[in-house]
Amino acid sequence: MSPDERELTFWNWRAFAACRDQDPELFFPAATDGPTYEAQVAAAKSVCHRCPVRVACLRDALQRVPHGIAGGLTESERRAVRPATVLPPPRWRALLLEGRSHPEVARLCGVSVRTVERWAAQLRRDHGHRCGGGAG
Ligand code: SF4
Repeated sequence: MSPDERELTFWNWRAFAACRDQDPELFFPAATDGPTYEAQVAAAKSVCHRCPVRVACLRDALQRVPHGIAGGLTESERRAVRPATVLPPPRWRALLLEGRSHPEVARLCGVSVRTVERWAAQLRRDHGHRCGGGAG
């Protein structure tokens, strides 16, 4: 199914994502470089390149997805093209800093709990902050 750009809202583009039926781990390479990393990146990008909502995904990923492959770009590629303007703090960051649980942040942001766990790990690295998490 190919959505009309006008039909896409902030969240509903995910319904058209080509990666919906893929193993999410494909988009988060375990290796950080080398042939295994390159092969996994190529496999993930091949899914993105046939995705009908890649533009919407990339727009979102540039603002709030620090890890993995999204919108057809790796995290380092997204960092390289991210607008130089200062973006407001992502909502997920504010929610985690408020002490919201990972399941709640996942529900409010429309992502998996695993993604929120990655965000929380980044927040701990960035700020040495202890985030709420787990069930509840
Ligand atoms: S562009 Fe890639 S990561 Fe984004 S929704 Fe499409 S397949 Fe998934």
